[in-house]
Amino acid sequence: MSDCIFCKIVSKEIPAKIVFEDEKILAFHDINPEAPTHVIVIPKEHIESISEITEKHQNLLGHIHLCIKQIAHELGLAENGYRIVNNSGKLGGQTVYHLHFHLLGGRQLQWPPG
Ligand code: 5GP
Ligand code: ZN
Repeated sequence: MSDCIFCKIVSKEIPAKIVFEDEKILAFHDINPEAPTHVIVIPKEHIESISEITEKHQNLLGHIHLCIKQIAHELGLAENGYRIVNNSGKLGGQTVYHLHFHLLGGRQLQWPPG
């Protein structure tokens, strides 16, 4: 997707503070953090949102969550806890239409979300 900002981060056209990368996924610090630690975890493949996933993505989604667990551990979030967020579509608050998971930690998070 030539006009997708996260695809441009994958291709390194746009810089990002990368915290983890392998052949399938990329994790980088959010440009506008909502918590002391706010990392965005994305598949390198362009998938618009969770609504577009199919059975062929099962392994990828499991892999993403295992990596999030590992990243949370490495960034020191595991002991006190953290939150994983996926916003999907307009009412879900999605602004970048490339599937991504927010990893938030480092402060007491509130519930319910706004
Ligand atoms: P959404 O609102 O779609 O769930 O989340 C998109 C997130 O991407 C937001 O938290 C926003 O701050 C972040 N973001 C948008 N553009 C960029 C960018 O160019 N670089 C980085 N690192 N984060 C971005
Ligand atoms: Zn994309």
